[in-house]
Amino acid sequence: MSDTCFAPKLMPFDIALTSLLDGVHCTRETKTLSLEDSIDHVLAEDVVSKVNVPPHDNSAMDGFAFHSSSFSDNPNQSLTLVGKAMAGRPFSRRVETGECVRIMTGAKIPTGCDTVVMQENTKIVEHQVTVNAIPKVGNNIRLQGEDIHQNTVLMRQGDKIRPVDIGLLASLGVPTVNVYRPVKVAVLSTGDELKPPGQALAEGEIYESNRPVLKALLSRLNCQVIDFGIIKDDKQELEQTFKLAAHQADVVISTGGVSVGEADYTKDILAKLGHIEFWKIAMKPGKPFAFGHLTDSVFFGLPGNPVSTMVTFMLLVVPGLAKMQGQSMTLSPFIKAKVGKKIPKSGYRMEFMRAILSSNEQGQAVVNRTDNQGSGVLTSMAIANCFIKVPANSDEFNIGDWVDVLPFDGGLF
Ligand code: AMP
Ligand code: MG
Repeated sequence: MSDTCFAPKLMPFDIALTSLLDGVHCTRETKTLSLEDSIDHVLAEDVVSKVNVPPHDNSAMDGFAFHSSSFSDNPNQSLTLVGKAMAGRPFSRRVETGECVRIMTGAKIPTGCDTVVMQENTKIVEHQVTVNAIPKVGNNIRLQGEDIHQNTVLMRQGDKIRPVDIGLLASLGVPTVNVYRPVKVAVLSTGDELKPPGQALAEGEIYESNRPVLKALLSRLNCQVIDFGIIKDDKQELEQTFKLAAHQADVVISTGGVSVGEADYTKDILAKLGHIEFWKIAMKPGKPFAFGHLTDSVFFGLPGNPVSTMVTFMLLVVPGLAKMQGQSMTLSPFIKAKVGKKIPKSGYRMEFMRAILSSNEQGQAVVNRTDNQGSGVLTSMAIANCFIKVPANSDEFNIGDWVDVLPFDGGLF
């Protein structure tokens, strides 16, 4: 029997993700940034290499450059040293057969040379260089364009710029890039019981952790965060805040107030200010997750429990934000790992269990779920480095069975 038969009001996870991705769009606004400032932004256009990298044939070794024909009739294997070539200071004249040039790593290969012998394989006496081991033709030369050919599409629109890409773009001599502007995200926590750090707790209160964790995750995702703080469970205050947040930001993310007890209440406000696409997902943790649109923004309503907040953010909000930032879709791949600790039968929801991935003596991936899977136990998230994906209504998994695993690092894939 399918999920929906067990729980007609819950949307299966995969359908929720697809419908969420269908419901969000790239802002398409672009800006030009210096290469240095472009880290973590998403390219708004392809980058085509205008040059070759390296721009000229150059030496991969410290040694001597010569033409391979020099040894065709040369019993002493000896060459006449006629000058030197350093990186950035090339040797200017043509090198003739039988001659060689002292060359340093990165120096341009002089005209007339096709091979470099490393200095360890030579002996120099005065101006004569004896080669002990003759290298093959072309050895120790890095060819022009060997790394990047002129006119190659090096990066594509939708690629997120990583440190290595900064290096690649710098090697092309590119000073600026066109990127999509970061998405503006308003964040707010709801709950009468919530206190920020640094204040004494009154009876029944707790320190809130969702907003700080979301802000940290959002800044890693290169979003521009607008912090709306902690909002009381008060209809008017909430409505005012949602209005303001939707006006200022591209995305509004709230936590709490979407579980059964308060659902109708938040639902009313959201129905008034926009509309909700879906409200509950057949996933564990994270059932009460809302996705919709306010007048000027996308809305994600995350559950209040700290683990549920993180799990729904990672699995649903991150792909949505990536699409809004203009990023080509790259959902993280699942890998297979062997069960190290028995997994009980699942219920009507797909489960994303916090777990620890390691390798056994045979080098196989082994995964052990954390002991406490409570949706309020944030320490279980901190010790975990992956989710085990357990389909709805599946039988137990025994030790040695294979399961699907999604690795992560402290809250980001
Ligand atoms: P709610 O979804 O508002 O019913 O909250 C579910 C649970 O999560 C309750 O135990 C809340 O106290 C807790 N919770 C809600 N918001 C936060 C927050 N920002 N930080 C930590 N815990 C929270
Ligand atoms: Mg609440």
